Amino acid sequence: MARALFMNSGSEGHINPTIGVVQELVSRGEEVVYFTIEAFRERIEQTGATVRTLDGQKFVNAFLSGGRNYLPERINGLLHTADVVIPGVLEQIKGERFDYIIHDSMFGCGRLLAQILKLPAINSCTSFAQTKASFDEMLEQHSKKIPAEIIQPINDEFHRLTVMVKDKYDVEIHSPYEVFCNPAPLTIVYTTREFQPFGEAFDQTYKFVGPSIASRLMPEDFDLSTIKDKSPIYISLGTVFNQAIDFYKLCFEAFGDTDHTVVMSVGEKTQIADLGEIPKNFLVKNYVPQTEVLKYAKLFITHGGMNSTNEGLYHGVPLIVIPQSADQPIIAGQVAAIGAGMKLPAQSLTANQLREAVDRLLNDPSFRKAVSNIRESFQKSGGYRQAVDEILEFYGGD
Ligand code: UDP
Repeated sequence: MARALFMNSGSEGHINPTIGVVQELVSRGEEVVYFTIEAFRERIEQTGATVRTLDGQKFVNAFLSGGRNYLPERINGLLHTADVVIPGVLEQIKGERFDYIIHDSMFGCGRLLAQILKLPAINSCTSFAQTKASFDEMLEQHSKKIPAEIIQPINDEFHRLTVMVKDKYDVEIHSPYEVFCNPAPLTIVYTTREFQPFGEAFDQTYKFVGPSIASRLMPEDFDLSTIKDKSPIYISLGTVFNQAIDFYKLCFEAFGDTDHTVVMSVGEKTQIADLGEIPKNFLVKNYVPQTEVLKYAKLFITHGGMNSTNEGLYHGVPLIVIPQSADQPIIAGQVAAIGAGMKLPAQSLTANQLREAVDRLLNDPSFRKAVSNIRESFQKSGGYRQAVDEILEFYGGD
């Protein structure tokens, strides 16, 4: 039995695909110590891992202190989190031995900790993967659009932070790519190589295992039997960029009092009372058991988060993707490119456009065909079981 250190301080989308992986590791006799934030304690404990926590608020504050407007600022924000994560983790694992580390591709300073602890490292990538070349190209494109008087101090700050990290923790940072993508000798990507843009560009250290969907705790206030034979439209903008009262009201306008049953998850930060009168054919909740709801849904209107997209397609549900931020426009583009759904703009969207998109998606058989193809390829992929096969082979062969 080996001992794994799991580092993951990201939001729900970074956590969910790891649940099945940890459960499977534990069932095969591995011991897992999982660092996360308090909000995810219960669901990680269910896997059989030992949970230790980081201060989520301090972590978020450090991340946001890098700035919110530009990608290079977010990279600096990740570096700011080093002082929240590293001393706390080192203190909590003092005197313990680990055999390998699995870390999120973005949050939790995984690459730095792997070097400090001199552990074989596995990168858990919950979005599309990026090669150094594709990331550098993207960063250059972003940076070009930022006025010189703004980008210069951001770049200076990056340099200052890398020097600070080297001085404090004796680890080198060679590029923004290392900070943002945390490359490792083995990367587990929770989608298929076919769905990954430029999938052929990734070498064999990238294992595209497909969606990792394990059963989760059911929220107590949701009764699945009310939608089981209703083929609902399901609407959600995920767990992060989901404060969108106008959009939710637009959905009422588009589908209120129609023959469609609609399940809408509005996120924990939205007050349902602020949405006004709820049409009778809508079920509105702050949070729903998404992977259960998707089993019955005929269509999913989503922001195009990687997990929502994977989960929808895994269950054979066509998607209308309305990207809000982050990697979502790229994911939306990929959904449209394979013909499994449509991409609509978040800005200036009308109720009519939404209705028309739903009608097209439900009536044009080409979407059904494309969705059924990707569903089949996702269901054939190995998911969390393959992830664990790859992890154990990597570690065993180290
Ligand atoms: N989710 C859920 N119920 C909800 C909203 C979201 O279970 O009401 C889950 C969803 O199944 C997915 C994750 O939260 O696993 C959201 O991740 P995603 O990458 O789609 O988007 P993010 O929240 O990171 O923007």
